[in-house]
Order: sequence, then C-alpha cells, then structure tokens
Amino acid sequence: MNSRLRSLPSVERLLGVREISDLSAAYSHDAVAGMVRLELELARAGVKSGGEAPQIEELVNAVLSRVHRALAPWPRRVINATGVILHTNLGRAPLSRAAVEAAAEVAAGYTDLELDLETGRRGSRQAHISSLLAQVTGAEAGLVVNNNASALMLGLTAFARDRAVVVSRGEAVEIGGGFRVPDVLRQSGARLIEVGTTNRTYVADYEAAITPETAVLLKVHQSNFAIRGFTHSTDIQVLSRLASERGLVAFHDLGSGALLDTSRFGLPREPMVQESVAQGADLAFFSGDKLLGGPQAGIVVGKRKHVDVLAKHPLARAVRVEKVTLAALSATLLSYSRGTAEADLPVWQMISATPSALKARAQEWKSSIGSGGSTVRASKSTVGGGSLPDETLPTHVLAIRPPGSAEAFVGRLRRAGRPVVARIEADEVLFDPRTVLPEETAELLDAIKSALAG
Ligand SMILES: *Cc1c(COP(=O)(O)O)cnc(C)c1O
Repeated sequence: MNSRLRSLPSVERLLGVREISDLSAAYSHDAVAGMVRLELELARAGVKSGGEAPQIEELVNAVLSRVHRALAPWPRRVINATGVILHTNLGRAPLSRAAVEAAAEVAAGYTDLELDLETGRRGSRQAHISSLLAQVTGAEAGLVVNNNASALMLGLTAFARDRAVVVSRGEAVEIGGGFRVPDVLRQSGARLIEVGTTNRTYVADYEAAITPETAVLLKVHQSNFAIRGFTHSTDIQVLSRLASERGLVAFHDLGSGALLDTSRFGLPREPMVQESVAQGADLAFFSGDKLLGGPQAGIVVGKRKHVDVLAKHPLARAVRVEKVTLAALSATLLSYSRGTAEADLPVWQMISATPSALKARAQEWKSSIGSGGSTVRASKSTVGGGSLPDETLPTHVLAIRPPGSAEAFVGRLRRAGRPVVARIEADEVLFDPRTVLPEETAELLDAIKSALAG
C-alpha cells in the first residue's frame, strides 16, 4: 500500500501539468490547487481502502472535469422531453418571449421600481402590479411576494398570529416539496382547528368550530391529489359568506391559480382565480410559476383593506420580490389582459397543443434520426407542478429502444452539451414533443443522435 501511495504525484507536480496550469492561470490558482488537493485525497483514500493508485492522466482528467463543472454557469438550460409541463425539478413554467425580454431589460440597468416618474417622488413597487392583478382577476387589489408559501405565511401571520384558523381535515395536507399546511400555520403562530373528516366537510362543521379566538376560515385546493367517491367539500362562496357573517376573513389557497379555463383543453376545471374572487374570497393565494405561466412568485389578490394589511406587515419586507421577477410577472399578466395568453405563454401553448400537431412533430423527429429502433406512438403528457393530479393529455411520443441499457442512454442525454431530460418506460426512452419548445428541436435531435452513437 505504501508503494502505491508513494506512486501518487504531488500537488505541485499536478499543478505543473500544462492543462491544469493553463486553467489555474485563467481562473484562480487557489481554487484549482484546492481541487487538485481534493482529487489527491480521494485517490489516497481509495488506495487505503485497497484500490489501485490512479494513473496521472486519470488524476489530471478528474481535476479538469471538476474545475469545468465548478466554472460552468448554473442553473443550466435543459430540454424537457418528459411531457410534464410544470416540472418542479426543472424549474416549473418557462417564460414567454415578452417576459424574458422584460426581465433582461430591467436586470441590466436601473429601474423605476420605487420611483414615481410623474412626480419624481418615492413610489411603491407594488402599485403597478396591484392594478394589473386587479384588472385580470376582478379583485380590488393584489400583492406579490417571493412564492405562494411565503404569501400564505404572510397572510396567516398578519391575520391569525395567536388566533385560530379553521381548516377542513381533508385540506390540512402536504402539497409537495415539504410544504405542509399544518406546519405553515404553526410557523405563523396560528392555531390549527381541523374540522370535518378526510372525505366530507360541511359548512356546519366550520360554523361549530368558530370561537372568539377564530380569525380565519382557510380553504386549500387539493392540488396534488384527488379524493373520489363519497366526498363533500364546502365551496369558497359558502365559506366566504360564513366568514363575513361572523366578522372573520376567508382565505383561499388556490395553489396553481389558473386564469384560463382548463376545461377548454379536455382537462377538468382547475379552480380559477377570477371565480374565487367573484365568490367572495377575502384573500386568494396562488403561485406565479404554475398555471399562470410566469416567474416564481406568490400572488395574493382580494379586498383592498385586507391586501393593505399584508403590504404593511413587517414580514412583507422579508418576502419582498425583486425587479426582475416583477418585470417578468407584469409582462406575463399583460398577456392575459390583452387576451393573448394562450398564444404567448409556453405553458398554455403546451396545454393547448393538439394530438395531431404533436404526432407530426414526433414523426419529423423520427425521420431526422433515421428509423433505427425508433417508433412514434400514442402516450400521455401531464400538467404536473401539483396541478390536476391523475389527469393526462393525449400526446404522441418518439420512443427509442437504445442499443445498450435505457439508463445509460438517458445518462448520455443528461450529459449532452444541451442536457435532455427524457423518461423511461419499459426499456424504451420516450421523448414527448409537448414540452419541447420549437426552438429546441435542433439541439434535441443532435443530443439524441450523439447519445445513440454512444
Ligand atoms: C404549490 C402550492 C403551494 C406552494 O406554492 P409555491 O409557490 O411553490 O410556494 C401552496 N399551496 C398549494 C395549494 C399549492 O398547490
């Protein structure tokens, strides 16, 4: 073992190797030296546990790839061929062209974020987006924060700290990514009063639970699961009426926050923000990057006096959004206000893509690749992102049975110059055109061809 350990090169020797010294000159000597030391430590540990000492070329390559990984920009743009439209691991909604341009424009310079250009006086970063939200949702006012989890945290803290919040037992749920309604309530200092049963909760259940301590009646959309059969839930209209009779506020956590009707695309109807507002929710909460199709954000709309309470709360400062998000969100909302959301926003383009158009794209891919082991066939896409559980959209996929293992093939796709994420089904790798943006086609086909070549 000692002779194997002695055969390992020194830090100085590796740093002297041409490719490594070039990198350390261009990047940072200390950072590269740190990575050389780390590789040597790993090699020493390998030898001590009985392994062979790596050749110097192997060590050099390991250092080079470590440095390249550290230098690479991140997050990287990837191609989503999974057919899951709102893929949380892949960053949810892609932005519209207009939103991307608006974000880039303000990112590069200064903005009138908190300056009123008319008067020259201090402005509010929320005023413009509030009126845009009011216009597209029918609410009196709106507020934007970091994400929906922080919007709820803010709402519950502002209205129910040291008070009680009544929630149906079927809605005190975990939404995913560790977001649990009971935990958010606890964090905000509110006491959770669960009413009803998992499958049935009536307005009388809420009514019976109201005490002088009660501040909020909360309705949570069961975004990521479905209960079927013998069920009853109390709708927001009934809950809002009860809240106003008792001097309480009704919160509606919509999750996804659709502004277009999903039933037009052969899907069940996801609750819409406009409806929640029209049915009297005092405050409705939703995400910016789910079915809205914009940047990550938490959006609250509702009665002005309630929105103002949130805006003035000290916690609002801690969950404040930045200019780039506001620019992208405002461009996204403008698409709704102009009535062009379906044409402008990738999420709605993907949802509304027809099976015949998807089939034509998959067939084009197949002929570009050459038929070897590939077929085009019917499959299913999903909306994802905690929206519309169990529901699928009919699609056509390119299915490839790779020469080696399917796992190795998707591994090569993930490591392509432009990484591609695809799914495996019964030893075949499926590429769903629904979630591949048209301008990504050439890069996708290049990646598939190189991955097939090995
Ligand atoms: C997704 C979701 C959340 C969390 O929203 P984020 O924007 O991810 O913080 C909260 N509530 C419901 C019902 C959701 O579906």
